[in-house]
Amino acid sequence: MAAFAVQPPHGGRRLSQTDPYNATIVQRWDQNEYTSIFTVRPDSGACPPFEPGQFTTLGLIDPDAPPKKDGRKPMILRAYSIASSPTVRETMEFYIILVDNGKLTPKLWKLREGGRLWLSPKISGEFTLDGVPADRDMVWVSTGTGIAPFVSMYRRYRGQNRWKRAVVINGCRLARDLGYVSEFERYAREDGNCVYLPTVTREPEGSDWKGLRGRVPLALEPQTYEKLVGAPLVPEQCHVFLCGNPQMIDDVEAMLLQRGFKTHKKRDPGNIHLERYW
Ligand code: FAD
Repeated sequence: MAAFAVQPPHGGRRLSQTDPYNATIVQRWDQNEYTSIFTVRPDSGACPPFEPGQFTTLGLIDPDAPPKKDGRKPMILRAYSIASSPTVRETMEFYIILVDNGKLTPKLWKLREGGRLWLSPKISGEFTLDGVPADRDMVWVSTGTGIAPFVSMYRRYRGQNRWKRAVVINGCRLARDLGYVSEFERYAREDGNCVYLPTVTREPEGSDWKGLRGRVPLALEPQTYEKLVGAPLVPEQCHVFLCGNPQMIDDVEAMLLQRGFKTHKKRDPGNIHLERYW
């Protein structure tokens, strides 16, 4: 049976034959021409439960594909980290970048508020704080929209002693590409245990940018990190979460393995957690 013909397990309405979708975009905020925050409400009125760091799937019918045996056109389905806190029950937030020659995102970009789409009721992923002790530093490292799971984690657990320190490192090409800047700047101002370190690689010299420059791994060099954070990046004290561009993830993982960190696996826990976006 086609995925979009099933009744959502969390009690959604039965989907009609004519509308293959089960959710509506209730808000869209364009950060710039190619990055947007989508707030999506499932028709059921209740989002499926999830842990911060997990992802679900968004989908749109592929108009160019030949129909399947049942006469319906297939969906283009893609995974997206949930940026909202699970305490928000009626909507889910997604932070998405337009991939110009991609299959789904150019179609998604045509939708504004009121646009319909498929929001999978199935939640997946092990990129969570599950099993991570509360007395450690969380080092949340991302490129681009890979900051999304950390937005969810911070929103959910802020002020609840779920970590010793939250260090948020996000790398982009230009300062205008950095997402959730004012939110994390505020958290860092209000919370002595939150350090926000955005870094840019191609911001023109002489612009207003006063922050870090250079690729993400530079901020993780031992002396640089300790100077910026006020504590060392050591395996006894830190859990490092890496999300986004697979090249950044591979580079940082290799660097950390040499410094005594261990990659986390479900049955063999470690302190490097990975979420590759492609
Ligand atoms: P496709 O036709 O699928 O083309 C894929 C190509 O697009 C990749 O080979 C890569 O070159 C590029 N690409 C994919 N994702 C990105 C990206 N984020 N930044 C830059 N280039 C990219 N994307 C988000 O924007 N936000 C998220 O929160 C997010 N969460 C994800 C969670 C998981 C677990 C995974 C596996 C992927 C996630 N992605 C996320 C990527 C997303 O699933 C799609 O791959 C992306 O939106 C492109 O889809 P598309 O059909 O337009 O492009």
